[in-house]
Amino acid sequence: MTDRKAELAANLAKVEERIAAACAAAGRKREEVTLIVVTKTYPASDVRILSGLGVRHVAENRDQDAAPKAAECTDLPLNWHFVGQLQTNKVRSVVGYADVVQSVDRSKLVDALSREAVRAGREVGCLLQVALDAGASGRGERGGVAPGGIEELAALVAGSPGLRLDGLMTVAPLTGEYAGRQRAAFERLMDLSTDLRRAHPAANMVSAGMSADLEEAVAAGATHVRVGTAVLGVRPRLG
Ligand SMILES: *Cc1c(COP(=O)(O)O)cnc(C)c1O
Repeated sequence: MTDRKAELAANLAKVEERIAAACAAAGRKREEVTLIVVTKTYPASDVRILSGLGVRHVAENRDQDAAPKAAECTDLPLNWHFVGQLQTNKVRSVVGYADVVQSVDRSKLVDALSREAVRAGREVGCLLQVALDAGASGRGERGGVAPGGIEELAALVAGSPGLRLDGLMTVAPLTGEYAGRQRAAFERLMDLSTDLRRAHPAANMVSAGMSADLEEAVAAGATHVRVGTAVLGVRPRLG
């Protein structure tokens, strides 16, 4: 085993232990939570090692980095998630490799995703990114639709060819009433998911929790956790 492989294997084992413990504490089955490893800023060689170690879901937040990495890894059995703020001029590229876009937060983006998914003959899963720090109808500092905008955006995704409404995603807010209250933030996301599923029963993915707060997310009921640092190490630059 290479040093890097041994390092990633050890980190993965620790994260796996944390998820298993959080599931046990919450009375949930381990299979209810899917680990997505956020590989942003790390090379395709790490993605390949992770795939060999059994990782099936990876996430990226910048198309410039993600597109070439995904292209180097097309032989691997991976699901690619896009989790970054997405400009419409990058949509064509992202639709080329992303199975799921977790950062859907405005109608213009939905229209672009639908158009490009149809063009590419692909079905793209969509999570609405919810900004729990947004004003009544505004958007969050790091993107995301305000809770009041979910219903309308969900209906738009559900009615758009080439797109599949999969559920909701959030990042624990750094500002506003949920700052420093991850558990409360994730519980709010779960309530919003319950509301969403009344109209869209299949949209049952709840993506929440990162390296620092995955336990809180699992306790609240998240189905997907997005873990970067705890698996790959502290990122060399902001990303
Ligand atoms: C970077 C990132 C993560 C992972 O964060 P870590 O703290 O490194 O685990 C999760 N979600 C999103 C949207 C990210 O951009």
